[in-house]
Amino acid sequence: MHLTPSYKSLNPAQFQEKIEALESMLQECKLCPRKCKAKRESGEKGFCRAGANLWISSYGAHFGEEEILVGSYGSGTIFFTWCNLRCSFCQNYDISLEGNGESVSEQQCAEIMIYLQKRGCHNINLVTPTHYTPQIVKSIKIASEKGLNIPIVWNCGGYESFEVIRTLDKIVDIYMPDIKYSNSEAATLLSNAPDYFERCKEAIIEMYRQVGNIQIENNIAKRGLLIRHLVLPEDLAGSEQIFMFLKNEISPDVFINIMAQYRPYGNIPEKMGRRITINEYRNAIILARKIGLRNIIHSTTF
Ligand code: SF4
Repeated sequence: MHLTPSYKSLNPAQFQEKIEALESMLQECKLCPRKCKAKRESGEKGFCRAGANLWISSYGAHFGEEEILVGSYGSGTIFFTWCNLRCSFCQNYDISLEGNGESVSEQQCAEIMIYLQKRGCHNINLVTPTHYTPQIVKSIKIASEKGLNIPIVWNCGGYESFEVIRTLDKIVDIYMPDIKYSNSEAATLLSNAPDYFERCKEAIIEMYRQVGNIQIENNIAKRGLLIRHLVLPEDLAGSEQIFMFLKNEISPDVFINIMAQYRPYGNIPEKMGRRITINEYRNAIILARKIGLRNIIHSTTF
């Protein structure tokens, strides 16, 4: 069976209905669980600092993502400026915390998507899209009308609004959320989001309801849920509870990339001032297997 992207099944009225629902959430912004109520269209800024217009820091064919996204011609990444999590250890702080990028219209964003498809990219990989959801969905509609026909990857930090994710049903084919922390202390300290795990779990259950486990055609992911989890020093992320949640409430077959690339950076507590050890990483993989997760992607370099 050949899977076509979900958004191809939406008619213009259905697309428009979703855009309007999302635009109403932008008015006094509640696009993410922070629900700042910032009037972004009047120039007010919320926690993420994003305004009313789309800002992009870069785009292109990216070969550093998971193999099932990259294939031969790369994943068509678009990096959005600002972030609703603003983690203190962010490696892309110039984009997420300092706002490096430039304003583009929805029309221009749609043209970027078409350009990436023409380059042969296997998907459109939206990096940190949460705070621009209405503008991005508008861009996808325009691009779809111009012939976009590759899957949309929602590459987000996991601190998502259930209502927003529900509205993305039939637009997104591949959800790729982080699960960063299972404990409130770390989430508060590092991302100022005490309810991170609760909101993340609700959102991921809904993502999984929509797209299920990863489906692969010719070695390329076409649809499904792919989790990313970054192991932190001293198990600050609380990995065990995350793996238990995935096994018990999602599926033992869910794809999870357990990542080793944490680097000490930014305004972090003392115990995070080092890279993780090989043993910390190995133990996380062993634990995930022991709990029963069967589709683990892990680093070959350390
Ligand atoms: S998207 Fe930004 S402005 Fe909107 S609720 Fe989240 S942090 Fe606040």
